[in-house]
Amino acid sequence: MTSCIFCKIVKGEIPSAKLYEDDSTMSFLDINPINPGHALVIPKNHYPTILDVDEEDLKKTIIATKIVAKALKDALSCDGINILQNNFEAAGQLIYHFHIHVIPRFEGDGLKVWSGVPYKEGAMEDIHGKILSAMRK
Ligand code: AMP
Ligand code: ZN
Repeated sequence: MTSCIFCKIVKGEIPSAKLYEDDSTMSFLDINPINPGHALVIPKNHYPTILDVDEEDLKKTIIATKIVAKALKDALSCDGINILQNNFEAAGQLIYHFHIHVIPRFEGDGLKVWSGVPYKEGAMEDIHGKILSAMRK
């Protein structure tokens, strides 16, 4: 028996405000929304993080995300939509069942999702090289 809250939602063992469902994915409202209408999209299969997700399930989850994003835009007339996805504690992941946040945004809602800082001289080239090396492994 799983202790994963999102697996329980998939099985109908705990309630959710379901927005969308197909064979492989599901979407429901986040109970602590950043803005009203904030939705989550998940694969029905359990994968802890994006590094674990089967590629077919990943594709289907992204397609479901687009369907939900369109519905939020139409229903809420939001000005923007953030698609966010947290992996591991340092990135703010609380629930270890891969999920995508779909967050309606409104002009002047005051949310600051992130702020960029320019690289120091040479730092971009260093990190670029490191990441390219990892891709070649
Ligand atoms: P994360 O920090 O990316 O792991 O996000 C987990 C999200 O799941 C949070 O925004 C929670 O508010 C949300 N959440 C937790 N439990 C439930 C639940 N039972 N139904 C809907 N959303 C939930
Ligand atoms: Zn799960």
